[in-house]
This record gives sequence, C-alpha cells and structure tokens, in this order.
Amino acid sequence: MIHLPQLPENHCPICLWPVPTAEICGACLKKPPAFTRTIAALRYSFPIDALIHSFKYQANLAIAPILADLLIKKLTTTAMRPDVIIPMPLHPIRLRERGFNQAMEISRYISKHMGIMILPDSCSRIKHTLPQTGLPWKDRQKNIRKAFSCKIDLSGKHVAVVDDVMTTGATLNELAKTLRQQGAAEISNWVVARTLSEIHQTGPYMV
Ligand SMILES: [Zn+2]
Repeated sequence: MIHLPQLPENHCPICLWPVPTAEICGACLKKPPAFTRTIAALRYSFPIDALIHSFKYQANLAIAPILADLLIKKLTTTAMRPDVIIPMPLHPIRLRERGFNQAMEISRYISKHMGIMILPDSCSRIKHTLPQTGLPWKDRQKNIRKAFSCKIDLSGKHVAVVDDVMTTGATLNELAKTLRQQGAAEISNWVVARTLSEIHQTGPYMV
C-alpha cells in the first residue's frame, strides 16, 4: 500500500488547521468563516498533488473516481447527510479552457455513491479571477470578492460544497457567504486535499 499524506489528527474542525487540542483555531475564532466545517481526505502534498495536477491540467479524467473514493472513505467516518451537493463553480472562460469542471467530476461520483443530489447549475462564477496560486491571502480575498452568484433558494438546507483543493479557504468562504445569502443553514466543505504549507495568519477570511 502506498503512503498518502494524512492531515494531522488534531485540527480545527472549521478550517482543518493543525491545533493540538483539536479546538477551533484562533483565526476562525477571530473571524468565523461563512462555512460550518471542512472535511478533507488528505493533505495536499506528494503524491496527491501530482495526481490532482494530472487530473486538472492534463485532463486525466480517469483520476476523478480515485479522488472521489478517497473523499468518500473519509466522509463515511462521519454521520453527515447534507441535503445537496454544490460543486465549486468554474468561470465559463476557465471551463472552456479546461473542458471540464474538476469539482463537478468529483461530485458526480460522490453523489452517486452517497445518494445526495447535485445542484450543478444553481451557482455560477461571475468574476473571472486571476489564478489564486501565488497570491498572498489578503490579495486572494480581494481577488475573489463577489465572484459568485446563486439563484436557488437554499432556506434551511445543509449544503456540501465539493472542491479538489483548499488552500487558504478564501474561495470556499466567498462561495459559502453567497450560499448563506440564499438561506443555507449549514455549509460543509468537502475537499480532496488541504494545503498546510501556507502561513496561517490571523484572519485569513477577513474581508
Ligand atoms: Zn480554523
């Protein structure tokens, strides 16, 4: 069996940042994100980063079920049953470049396996942002502001947002804010991998 990079056992339940006591981290206490919690299958490092890279940038779609399975394995250890799944939307320009939405591909398998409905076109990305990679967290927040539009009524719903990678959480937080505006009561981020290499400054979700 190959070794896959695990997240530290004790972490913040909201953002997954390592916390020895497994309590809510300082940053989430100071500025609570719009999402309720995050579940990630693995830590974003080798070989999972290479796998995700190949999936996204070489359109290696056969990797989607592998990533979905890793996440499903993690999800089955929790008793959570969100009402709906919303894949992280891609801007139409990015979608055209890539040819597919990686979050949608992963969501498809999770939805089928867990019997939870996907709402694929309920939310859209209305702002074509610069790639977040390489931007400091403060600029990421600015870059992503007002990036999403949702038209569906989510009153009282528990929404699972599926994405491939969570870095600072700025994009997930911005989508979660939009989902809250539509009435979502609970938002769980379901991501394949979480990066932990970035400096976690206080208030990464600050707007
Ligand atoms: Zn946190």
